[in-house]
Order: sequence, then C-alpha cells, then structure tokens
Amino acid sequence: MEIIDHIPVNLEAGDIARRLRIRPDRAGSFHLEEFLELAGSLISLRTVYDISYVGAKDAGSVEVAGVVFRSGVLRHNLENAQKVFPYIMTIGPELEKAATSLGDLLKQYYLEEIANIVLEQGAAWLTDKLQGRWGFPRLSNMSPGSLEDWPITEQRQLFSLFGDTEKTIGVRLTDHFLMLPRKSISGILFPSEEGFTACQLCPRDVCPSRRAKYDEGLAAEYREREFSRG
Ligand code: SF4
Repeated sequence: MEIIDHIPVNLEAGDIARRLRIRPDRAGSFHLEEFLELAGSLISLRTVYDISYVGAKDAGSVEVAGVVFRSGVLRHNLENAQKVFPYIMTIGPELEKAATSLGDLLKQYYLEEIANIVLEQGAAWLTDKLQGRWGFPRLSNMSPGSLEDWPITEQRQLFSLFGDTEKTIGVRLTDHFLMLPRKSISGILFPSEEGFTACQLCPRDVCPSRRAKYDEGLAAEYREREFSRG
C-alpha cells in the first residue's frame, strides 16, 4: 500500500474560468486569481492505492485481493487482468468547511466545482503515474456506485482493502456508503486496451459530468456476456 501526499494541482485561471463559465468582462468585483489562491490553500490532494491481484471469478463477481466484488461489468473488465490498482483519493476537509461557512451560494458553487476539477486532475495524475511505473499502455477506472451493476454498497468491500482509512488517508465511509470528506473519490484502476468509461454504459439523458457517449451496442454486449455466463 502506498500513500501519496501533495499530488500536484493546476489551478490556472484561464482554464478554471472556462470550466466555471466565468466571463472576465462580467466578473465585476469577483477576483478569480485571489479566489483560486484561497481554494489552493484549502486543498490537500492525497491518495492511498494498492497493487492487488485478481482472483476467482464467477458469472457476476470477481475477487480482488481476496475480497469478492459483485459486478458483472467489473468481472468482465477484469477478464484478462492480473494486476489492478484500488485507490481512495481526497482533497481533505478544509475546502468543504470553508465553502459551507462562506454564506455566498455562487462562491460555494465555484469551490465545489474547483474541488471536482482537482479530483479529476488527481485521478489523471495517478493513472499516468501507474501506467508509467508498470508499463501499461492504458488504465481505465471503475467506481462503486457509478453503474447500477456495481452499487454504492460495494464501497464497503473497496474500503476493506485499506484497513483504517481514517488513519491512512483521512477518509471515512458512512453507514450510507458516502465518503467523508465529501470531496473524495475511490475506485479500481485496471488495464484495458480499448479503454472503458462507465458513461458508455449509462443511458442517463442529462448529466453534466458525462465523459463518453452512451454506447447502446456496447451496453448490449455486456448484457449478452452476463446472460451467457449466468
Ligand atoms: S453519464 Fe453521468 S451518471 Fe452516468 S456514469 Fe457518466 S458521470 Fe455517472
């Protein structure tokens, strides 16, 4: 298990303004640079990850580091994988506390969105690092709760891989399977030649976080594979 503190964060004003749709000519008394400096001082991006081995599989489940995960999609995605990388990542609690105490809904929204951008950067950073270190041309991600097939309740199994997560990374799982601090992510990175994004299998019409188009053909293929195994 490795813990990495101080993952680099890039809060370049131009990029963030584009992502938050802030037009400089309409910003008025709002000073983005100062705000980003404040946000930067409240973020402490860190992760814990492990190198785990894939074990026994059945029709709708797969074992990772001896823990059984119930998901046909994950099971299929790990068909040829031996080594995978479960992880938990967080920006820490400070930004969230500041956002709640601001009393300004727009600034609160900006801070929330900046936190999401930073977590995306962190996930990309960890993926790159592991690809480089282990020589995988491509790693993809799956997170419990991102698809109906792999429900949020499986966070419990994922967290069990890391022992006392509050101590190691400062992230706690609630009885409702939510991570605290809220601005945290978790999942399993796995080698995938074609690349995989849960959004490809998710038919939701409106989602501001969509990263790939819904692929009806691919969704049917996954269903077919599960059916033929079941
Ligand atoms: S489309 Fe949205 S809800 Fe569906 S998997 Fe992607 S991010 Fe999640």
